[in-house]
Amino acid sequence: MPKHIAILGSTGSIGTQTLDVIRAHSDKLVVEVLTANSSADLLIQQAKEFKPNTVVIADESKYTQVKEALIDLDIKVFAGADSLSQVVQMGTVDTVVTAMVGYAGLKPTIEAIKAKKNIALANKETLVVAGDLITKLIKENHVFLTPIDSEHSAIFQCLTGEPQEIEKVILTASGGPFRTKSIDELQKVTKAQALKHPNWEMGAKITIDSATMMNKGLEVIEAKWLFGVEADNIQVVVHPQSIVHSMVQFTDGSIKAQMGLPDMKLPIQYALSYPDRWHSDFERFDFTKYPQLTFEEPDFDKFRCLAIAYDALRKGGNAAAIINAANEIAVDAFLKEKIGFLDIANLVEKAINGIGFVDKPSYDDYVATDVETRKYISSII
Ligand code: NAD
Ligand code: MG
Repeated sequence: MPKHIAILGSTGSIGTQTLDVIRAHSDKLVVEVLTANSSADLLIQQAKEFKPNTVVIADESKYTQVKEALIDLDIKVFAGADSLSQVVQMGTVDTVVTAMVGYAGLKPTIEAIKAKKNIALANKETLVVAGDLITKLIKENHVFLTPIDSEHSAIFQCLTGEPQEIEKVILTASGGPFRTKSIDELQKVTKAQALKHPNWEMGAKITIDSATMMNKGLEVIEAKWLFGVEADNIQVVVHPQSIVHSMVQFTDGSIKAQMGLPDMKLPIQYALSYPDRWHSDFERFDFTKYPQLTFEEPDFDKFRCLAIAYDALRKGGNAAAIINAANEIAVDAFLKEKIGFLDIANLVEKAINGIGFVDKPSYDDYVATDVETRKYISSII
C-alpha cells in the first residue's frame, strides 16, 4: 500500500528533496497535497508533475496565478494560512511531511495529528515551541512521528531495535561557517558570509541558525522531546566533516553512531520508509577518502545561542517558545541587514529576560508568548 503524502512547504530545500525521494519511489509514495508560502511558479511546476489532489498557496495575492495555471487539471487550489490546517486533515492523506519553516508550522502540525496523520517532521520549531503538547497529542492519537532532521534521524536509527535506556545522546554539529572565527571577527561578519554553509545547502533561516549555532540549540530541545532525554544527557560535539550524524551512548557504555555523506535525502527517505529501508543510489561514504574525522567541544562563549537554548530547556515552560520567536525575528532582521550577527544572541537574551515566564503553558499561552515576543523584539530593533 503506497503512503499518501501531504508536504507542507514543498518548494523549499526539504520540500524539493522530499519530492526527489517520492520521484524515485513513486510505487510507494503518492503526493496528495503540495503547499508553498509564495513561490507560485515552482508550486505550479510541481503540481503539473505530481498531479496532487490539492495545492495551497499561503500568500493569497498569488491565488489567481496558481488557480489559472492549473485550471485544466483536476487539482483543487486554496489560498491562505488557514487552508494549511484544513488540507492536512483530508481523508486521502495518511502522512504529513512538515517542511515549512518556523513557528507557522505549529498549528497545521497539531491539526494533522488530531486528524490521526503520521508526521515526518523537519519543522523543528514546532517541537521547540510546544514539544510537550505535540508529544502528548502523538500518544493520544496513536500516530507515528519520524524525524527528518539528520541528527535526530541518526539517533532514531541508532535506537531502532534497542529497548534499553539511553545514557546520553551525542549530537554532532558542523560548527558552521564561523567555527574558527574570533568574537571580534564575528562582530563584522556579513549576511553573505553567514549564508555560506560548509556542508549543507539549506533554506536561509536554518543556514543563519547554523552560523549562530542556534540551530544546534533548537536541536538539543528537539532531542529532548523526541527521545525523552534531559539537557544534562545531551552533549553537543563539533564534528566539522558532518559524516557522523549523531550518536547514542547506552548504559553499558556502548556508543552507536549513524554515518554517511551529508545528504538530507537519506533522512527524508528513512522518515518515509520506516520501519523499512529502501534502496537508494545516493553517493556512498568511503572511509579511505576521509582519513580524519575530528571532534571538538563547542565554544559556548562565542556561540551564545547554544548556551541560551540549553538554559531555556532547563527552565522549561514557555522559555523555548520565547527564544524561538525572538530568534525568528532577529534572524529576519539580520537577513534584511538591519542588525549585526552578534545582535541575534543579544536579542534572544533580551527576550528571555523581558517576556513573562509561564510554567505550564497551554496552547493559547504558547500563541500569546509568540505574539508578545515578536512585538517586543521588533520594537527593540
Ligand atoms: P526553506 O526556506 O528552504 O523552505 C521553506 C518552505 O516552507 C517553502 O516551501 C516555503 O514556501 C514554505 N513556507 C515558509 N514560510 C511559510 C509560511 N509562513 N506559511 C506557509 N508556508 C511557508 O526551508 P528549509 O531549509 O527547507 O527548512 C524547512 C524546515 O526544515 C525548517 O524548520 C528547518 O529547520 C528544517 N530542516 C531543514 C534542513 C535542510 O537541510 N534544509 C535540515 C534539517 C531541518
Ligand atoms: Mg540538523
